Amino acid sequence: MLATATVEKNAYDVALENFDLAANALDLDESLRVRIKYPERILTVSIPVRMDNGRTVRFEGHRVQHSTQRGPAKGGIRYHPNVTLDEVKALATWMTWKCAVVNIPYGGGKGGVTCNPKEMSMGELERMTRRYASAILPIIGPEKDIPAPDVYTTPQIMDTYSMNMGYPVTGVVTGKPIGLGGSLGRNEATARGCFYTTRGSMEHLNIPLANARVVVQGFGNAGSIAATLFHEAGAKVIGCSDTKGCIFNAAGLDIPAVVKFKADTGSVAGFPGADRIRPDELLALRCEVLIPAALENAITEENAHAVHARIVAEAANGPVTPEADRIFDQMGVFLIPDILCNAGGVTVSYFEWVQDENHLFWDENDVNAKLEKIMVRSFNDVLKIHGDKKVNMRLAANMLGVSRVAEACRLRGLYP
Ligand code: NAD
Repeated sequence: MLATATVEKNAYDVALENFDLAANALDLDESLRVRIKYPERILTVSIPVRMDNGRTVRFEGHRVQHSTQRGPAKGGIRYHPNVTLDEVKALATWMTWKCAVVNIPYGGGKGGVTCNPKEMSMGELERMTRRYASAILPIIGPEKDIPAPDVYTTPQIMDTYSMNMGYPVTGVVTGKPIGLGGSLGRNEATARGCFYTTRGSMEHLNIPLANARVVVQGFGNAGSIAATLFHEAGAKVIGCSDTKGCIFNAAGLDIPAVVKFKADTGSVAGFPGADRIRPDELLALRCEVLIPAALENAITEENAHAVHARIVAEAANGPVTPEADRIFDQMGVFLIPDILCNAGGVTVSYFEWVQDENHLFWDENDVNAKLEKIMVRSFNDVLKIHGDKKVNMRLAANMLGVSRVAEACRLRGLYP
């Protein structure tokens, strides 16, 4: 586990605190604050599931729509034993600002079911997913709220919704397999967004990409593809890790070989041609770019001082705690906040929905070119606030997100 001995703050309290900081910095009107700060709609559902052993187990799930000011709510569904309503509310809130930062016409939402998917069979997961989808069905839909599941459950959400409506509705969920209306480039989108925003940061700080040292914590979907993109661009990925271990090579890892090694063995640990190091040593490696791409709370007040990176690019959601943020500010570390750095994923989810709703498909070059344009523009928008208002990049991104939602709310007026 990445969690440290310190008591972790409630994620929703952190989300509210970040909102207040942004609203204060924007000098936001009180009437707008109360209208955009809190979730618009919260649904908690009971999910009884017939397990393989014949017993019926009841799970609890939630769907939170934090905002629909700028468009339908958008956000994933998390299956995890530690899911709580407060966590789902926090993640839904972050989605609102994230979608606004990249200026796509979505609000923010999130779902979660408290369960341990690792202990469930595919059949149990399918039955739970279908029951959960049925329970939240009244509030989701391509024009209302578009989920994106965590594990391999997307087809079942789409199918359950479509069966209940009586016709195929591909746009109700994103992250679908290509054969069901998924988008080319979705799989790589989060890492691409991370790459574009990091490249922008390097240009801003006059750090050459060629031979820049990059360290990736968490060699999963986002982390391994980000490592590949940096490797292809001429940077040197000197360290990476997963739950089973961390590897280091000062001369640069052969990333395509590491990808293959992980595919063959299930881990980067034991990769020949690299030294094994401890997780704390990985985070402390001297480098130009550190990419936390594993879990939340990876960098806290306990280990932030040990970081020796010029740029920290938050590919994961919430890997750097607010206390660690303050330490980075003092140390002069340039942080690319999650709601900007990993927004490539939701941006291509939006492309997927646009393609579904219009019954057409773009080729991968189109998707990537459109993504690059949005990520570069969003990075420059945040960087401008960072420079003009003399605030850190996290606050700048939150200010941009909050101000766009506040503007939509102001223009719509207060009903009734
Ligand atoms: P993933 O499960 O594919 O990869 C996570 C990787 O982190 C795995 O390789 C795992 O072994 C590793 N890991 C877990 N704990 C670790 C630890 N303590 N030390 C080192 N490595 C550890 O997940 P992903 O899709 O790549 O997502 C990673 C992060 O990015 C998550 O925070 C996710 O919310 C965020 N994110 C992902 C997307 C996306 O589109 N995939 C979009 C936005 C944000």
